[in-house]
Amino acid sequence: MNLTIFDNHVHIKNESIDFYVQGYKKSGGTALNLINLTENCVNLECFIAEYERNIKVSRILRESGLDVIVTIGPYPINILAMHKIFNSTEIFEIYRMATKHAIKLISEGKANAIGEVGRFHFEVERTYQEEANEILKMIACEAHDQNIPLIIHSESLDDRGMCQLSNELTKSCGSLKIVKHFSKPIYNLNCGIIPSVPASRDNARKAPWGKKGFFLETDFAGDENNPNFVLPLDSVPRRVKMLMQEGVDIDNINSSMNYYKDFYI
Ligand SMILES: [Zn+2]
Repeated sequence: MNLTIFDNHVHIKNESIDFYVQGYKKSGGTALNLINLTENCVNLECFIAEYERNIKVSRILRESGLDVIVTIGPYPINILAMHKIFNSTEIFEIYRMATKHAIKLISEGKANAIGEVGRFHFEVERTYQEEANEILKMIACEAHDQNIPLIIHSESLDDRGMCQLSNELTKSCGSLKIVKHFSKPIYNLNCGIIPSVPASRDNARKAPWGKKGFFLETDFAGDENNPNFVLPLDSVPRRVKMLMQEGVDIDNINSSMNYYKDFYI
């Protein structure tokens, strides 16, 4: 049986492609969600260039034999830097155009999901968080119209926080496919938000293997010189090996890992 090993959150810079491919394949990884790095963008052109770059990297990874889900979208934290140049209306408009462009590329089959989008994971002035929430709502409603999965970057959420977010967005936009990036291991009572949890030993052991509706991730940050910035690139394959040694059924691991196909494609 071909075991699927999927990492749901990876960033790769051009100069780290070989480093990533070699390391991930050697450790047994077979599939990943490649998320763009738009954290330094303050205008539409930059967002679009980064979408295109991410799509190019995904092609190189596929040629190497990996299965790749592609996520593109405007990172939320940039709102702060953009305020040094633009007013709130202009910023909203840049995010709206960036969202439209991402959705166009996704509907052309070049990418699969929109992200990471959302709001601040640290304290900011209330007006900034409100702006981020308005932008998130706009993105969620656009995603709903096309049935596109949404990968959310936000503050840490417990089960109540997840339900609040889910309710707020679905009330405005209708049903949504939402993933919470860097989630706590909230495998139940998440109001339909899919938790994507850091691939620690503990999170991997607690996961309901055999069930569908969760992901493991590294948030590997694409820097060869600092490969362990969040978690090392081989963390998901290593956790799978650990679970198998501890007696977790391979079929159960495989069916949970393969959930990405139902969810994104
Ligand atoms: Zn990330």
